Amino acid sequence: MTQTQITLSNDFHNTEVQVSAQLDRRDRWILSAAQVSRTAKILCRIDGCTCGDTAGTRGRQLQPSGDHATLEYFASGAAEVILAGCYA
Ligand SMILES: [Zn+2]
Repeated sequence: MTQTQITLSNDFHNTEVQVSAQLDRRDRWILSAAQVSRTAKILCRIDGCTCGDTAGTRGRQLQPSGDHATLEYFASGAAEVILAGCYA
């Protein structure tokens, strides 16, 4: 299975985590619901804190490649990682 390493961060708590997104049959980079919930616990450890999104990310998700990652969540709790270059 094809995977890519994604760096997710939270600029409120200054936390960062690496996750492996898996390429699905429609060429989308996917984080499983389990990865999303594990990531949320690493990026924000405070119960009831509302700093981040479902995966606990906050701020720009800049990758070592220079791409920015955007997460689109599915009802299942899994997420698609959309990588896009930043030319600003
Ligand atoms: Zn928090």
